[in-house]
Amino acid sequence: MPQFPLPPGSTLGILGGGQLGRMLALAAARLGFETAVLERDADSPAGQVATHTIVGGYDDPAALEALARLARVVTYEFENVPAASVLKLQALGVDVAPGAEALSVAQDRVAEKQFLNASGAPTVAFAFADSAAGAAAAAATMGAPLLMKTRREGYDGKGQRWVEHVADAAGAFEALGGRPVILEAPADFVRELSVIAARGRDGATAVYPLAENHHEHGILRRSLAPALVMPHIAFEAEKISARVLQGLNYVGVIGIELFEMRDGRLLVNEIAPRVHNSGHWTQDGCSVDQFEQHVRAVAGWPLGPTQPHARIEMLNLLGDEVDQWAKLAAEPDSRLHLYGKRDAKPGRKMGHVNKLRAL
Ligand code: AMP
Repeated sequence: MPQFPLPPGSTLGILGGGQLGRMLALAAARLGFETAVLERDADSPAGQVATHTIVGGYDDPAALEALARLARVVTYEFENVPAASVLKLQALGVDVAPGAEALSVAQDRVAEKQFLNASGAPTVAFAFADSAAGAAAAAATMGAPLLMKTRREGYDGKGQRWVEHVADAAGAFEALGGRPVILEAPADFVRELSVIAARGRDGATAVYPLAENHHEHGILRRSLAPALVMPHIAFEAEKISARVLQGLNYVGVIGIELFEMRDGRLLVNEIAPRVHNSGHWTQDGCSVDQFEQHVRAVAGWPLGPTQPHARIEMLNLLGDEVDQWAKLAAEPDSRLHLYGKRDAKPGRKMGHVNKLRAL
């Protein structure tokens, strides 16, 4: 295992070549690190700015060996990293952060909710099923409406369906591909919030102020941060963050998606064991952003401060909205972040803009 803190000049491995990997690589470079990105695509947003790119699948043994030769610490930018790849890297003497426990919890919506509730982080009521008959029985017990989601591999609202009537549950199970599902009670929320938090190798934690998030078609459209919240909500978010980070013996930055309920409670929707789109505001709202914070944590450096120096409205640039770059670049209070993606397919995250407001 490597010695911590990792000195500048060391190489940090990153699984995944998307925009989150790109912004991690840029932050790592600013602290003097080299980066090695493992990604299937030879021309990826992260690969364009990394020191090294290894082209291969995340489960390709030769690619993982090449990564292990370059980097003794590996992190990732998406949560569906195969467990076998983590084991393989660890067997090669590589430290993977965040660790296998965080990944296994985040990859299965049922394990995630069970972990959260056991840690004292409340969620909606839920049940799970592996068959159409099981889904029908669970729905009959819970009542409708409810939200059915595949246990694994859903993102940006994909792999989920509302079930309006108990009698529709078996059909919804089949429509989701006949895969194991979770059934969730509807959250009667007034808004969606998220918190970005970090834990270092020494167990120290740092929590950013809450962001208020607005989605469209399941994709994050806009975040406002710091969100204007009642003090008890901010306090609750910090408590939840501490419980989750400690419960997972976590190292790195985590994104925790929350529902602010009509009755004043704060429930956890899901956790992302990585930097998070709703934390992009920290790039222009805080002196140490979520990307540098993550690099600091996994490299065993001290965590940085999280207090904001501006209020930010973060807007994702989806598809051809990125064509507005010249207009946005001319706005004195807008900071443009573009991902270097060649094709602006509809709904694809091409960049984001942080609009600065007075705090
Ligand atoms: P998820 O993929 O779990 O993050 O869900 C995507 C979006 O669906 C969330 O951001 C919410 O807007 C909505 N959603 C998820 N779970 C629930 C729920 N139990 N009740 C109501 N809305 C939900």
